[in-house]
Amino acid sequence: MKWVGRSGSGKVIDRRVSGGALSGIGIIILVIYTLISGDPRLLLTNLFNSGTTTAVTPQEEQISEFVSVVLNDTETIWTTVLREYDIAYDPVSLVLYKNNTQSDCGLASSNVGPFYCSLDETIYLDLAFFQELQNRFGAPGDFAMAYVIAHEVGHHVQNELGILDEFYRLRQQLNQSDANELSVRLELQADYLAGVYAFHVQDMGYLEAGDIEEALTAASAVGDDKIQMETQGQVYPDSFTHGTAQQRSRWLMKGFEAGDLSDMDTFSTTSLHN
Ligand SMILES: [Zn+2]
Repeated sequence: MKWVGRSGSGKVIDRRVSGGALSGIGIIILVIYTLISGDPRLLLTNLFNSGTTTAVTPQEEQISEFVSVVLNDTETIWTTVLREYDIAYDPVSLVLYKNNTQSDCGLASSNVGPFYCSLDETIYLDLAFFQELQNRFGAPGDFAMAYVIAHEVGHHVQNELGILDEFYRLRQQLNQSDANELSVRLELQADYLAGVYAFHVQDMGYLEAGDIEEALTAASAVGDDKIQMETQGQVYPDSFTHGTAQQRSRWLMKGFEAGDLSDMDTFSTTSLHN
């Protein structure tokens, strides 16, 4: 994707620790800690240790700039697309963190992976995930990352459209396996919305050769069947919550072909493969 030098979003909240310097909050904590324990050296060691291990690398800095440009594009795109439906888009916030951080939906940590919290209308993104996407899931490339962000923004769009509330309401009445199937439909729709985003990136002239393939590879790589096969050696379709590799790439492509909300109904369709 063409992104270098382009404007970023004002909705990125950077919670990564950069270096070992004591911040204002750090000093307040230090004072309180000293009052309680009487020994400031202990905490100083802790602060500087964590500062060293979570320092921001130049490569991470570049990725965070990229994330900001992608988020900015989603703001432009969803404002335009939703205006067609007389809906004013209220942009989502995105927290960048390392290791773990607090969200209104609970603790965000590297093992959870990127997610959208509807309670604080914020996406939580651990930059280490992008390394994982490349190394563990075998989905390299900038547009693989853009797909992941666009999928999470897709959940926010679902929230804006009232679909998430309806999903939470319906899910309460279902048994586990039906609730999982409903979750698959929600997730495939977020993939579709990521496809709509990709259509508009192309429309704006920022898509490069191979970008769509990178997104499709990423969508397949995070398919439930693929992940279960790799981690457990077999698949358990009843436990799927996000859809198979084939379904995820299919719905991403459907959104990319449509470029609007016209084909987004994953909830009433009988075959999720079509
Ligand atoms: Zn999702």
